[in-house]
Amino acid sequence: MADEPASVIVVGGGVAGLSAAMFTARAGVSTRIVSAGESILGRNAHVENYPGFPAGVNPRLLVELLRAQARRAGVWFVDGTVESVERTEAGFTVRTADDSFESTYVVAASWADPSYLDALDVDVVDRGSKQFIGVDAQGRTAVDGLYAAGRLAEQHHQAIVAAGHGAQVGLTLVEDSDVDFYHDWTAPEGYFTDRGREVPPGCEEIDEAERERREQESLEVMQRYFEEPMPGEPTMHPSLVDDGDGD
Ligand SMILES: Cc1cc2nc3c(=O)[nH]c(=O)nc-3n(C[C@H](O)[C@H](O)[C@H](O)COP(=O)(O)OP(=O)(O)OC[C@H]3O[C@@H](n4cnc5c(N)ncnc54)[C@H](O)[C@@H]3O)c2cc1C
Repeated sequence: MADEPASVIVVGGGVAGLSAAMFTARAGVSTRIVSAGESILGRNAHVENYPGFPAGVNPRLLVELLRAQARRAGVWFVDGTVESVERTEAGFTVRTADDSFESTYVVAASWADPSYLDALDVDVVDRGSKQFIGVDAQGRTAVDGLYAAGRLAEQHHQAIVAAGHGAQVGLTLVEDSDVDFYHDWTAPEGYFTDRGREVPPGCEEIDEAERERREQESLEVMQRYFEEPMPGEPTMHPSLVDDGDGD
């Protein structure tokens, strides 16, 4: 696999994983999210503090918007609980009960389950009933090529922090790979080229007609999402439903 293009498996399709995956996919890293179960944000009643939504947003709608954005960026989705991650010569093998996947990189974004990393030499931080994965300031674990993002990496228990950390981790992974990358920016036509610069890798210049087309599409897409209330109810704390443990 040494000569194959970079690829990443993101474990956990919650806020952090979706955000990390969007950035890796947009940078051209082949990206697959393997996830089972809902984001813990599904327990929220109404999100009041995610920037960009002045009157708040339904938590399930927020996750659906993040999923749609990741899908549009080219992320592949697999339903499944990851049971183990093993090191290989060229990267990792990620296993669910039914399947296995090879990748150059892994991002663990699976709050609150790090058990599938048991075979690897990661720093596990125990805090009461919770376990976190030790990372550096960019989200790298002690295992080369393995990153952790969001609450699992002991970030503040807030959706925007998880999303921001996911972005940080995704971009760090891109920088660590051999993908040619500057920033993920969309700029107006001429922004670079009128100064005699080439458009840097990861960036794009678009002309006015294309800008208007994209804005129109974004209005139509968002109108569809916000036409009707989101179906479903918040998920209650497990201890109120059974004897489970949770936040
Ligand atoms: C009641 C409640 C209300 C909240 N309200 C707010 C709020 O108003 N504002 C705010 O900012 N934050 C709020 N939060 C916090 C917010 O939901 C979290 O901080 C955020 O979702 C963390 O993102 P994450 O991606 O790290 O984890 P998650 O979003 O939980 O994503 C982790 C994903 O990984 C999956 N997963 C786990 N293990 C595996 C495995 N082995 N294999 C595959 N997939 C796996 C999980 O099922 C989940 O889909 C609230 C939390 C709770 C409990």
